[in-house]
Amino acid sequence: VYLPNSFWRARDELSILSETFNQMLTNLEEAYLRQQRFVADASHELRAPITSIRCNLDLLNKAPDLPGEEISAALTDTQAEAERLGRLVNDLLTLARADSTQQLLREAPHALYHTRIDLDSLLLDTFRLFRHRSEQASIYPRLLLQHTEPVQIYGDADQLKQVLVALVDNAFKYTPPNGTITLSLRSHEHRQACIVISDTGIGIPAEDLSHIFERFYRADPARSRDRGGSGLGLAIVKRIVENHRGNIQVESTPGAGSNFTLCFPSVPIAPGEQA
Ligand code: ADP
Repeated sequence: VYLPNSFWRARDELSILSETFNQMLTNLEEAYLRQQRFVADASHELRAPITSIRCNLDLLNKAPDLPGEEISAALTDTQAEAERLGRLVNDLLTLARADSTQQLLREAPHALYHTRIDLDSLLLDTFRLFRHRSEQASIYPRLLLQHTEPVQIYGDADQLKQVLVALVDNAFKYTPPNGTITLSLRSHEHRQACIVISDTGIGIPAEDLSHIFERFYRADPARSRDRGGSGLGLAIVKRIVENHRGNIQVESTPGAGSNFTLCFPSVPIAPGEQA
């Protein structure tokens, strides 16, 4: 049978269309599974403190003649769990906001972040925020600001500050008092500005390194929870950095420490603005 050229063209086009459609469905399916997993993890994380609060309240209700110290232990525990719940809800909200910003940026790439931010000032603010800890040498590691230079990027100062605070806070959580945390900022070729936050702490095992930016991932769950971590900190950090067209890398050696490097596209500082 003779089939006209248009038939073959239509067949090729249909085949491309079906391939594209297939890929879209796979992407949707994956996104749906990720979302489902996230909701299950979030429910699990929320349920733990709620259960603990409920048990303590039950105890206090059913045994009003408990010894004073047991009552006070139950109340202290309830307060700690309520605070954990509060932190978790806050982190979930921040993550949801960063996710919707990403969606917005995908649809309108130049819609956001027209404000110039002095990255060096933000780093200095963060250093000052934590500096007092260095004065308590028996509890906290040393904190050093090794190098900084004037660099501007487009962004949201509050969100960027939140990123720096989260990373320095983690460095403090996972570095013993005799260790050192070092902050630095350098501008590189091709208009890149990179901040490095390095610590001489416990480090991260190789098998965990590629997962630590995932939601609720903890390299050492018990240790992280003890330190008040929600397991969402680095997921939030990554989202905010990506929303600023930046990237974040980590290098770590267990027992020796970790380096977190954040790079952003920098903007030339306008003449006369140089500090
Ligand atoms: P958390 O709130 O549990 O600290 P994060 O998302 O901030 O959660 O970090 C994820 C995991 O990465 C942590 O549980 C911890 O195991 C590991 N981690 C993050 N920063 C460091 C660091 N500076 N040194 C060692 N481990 C770290």
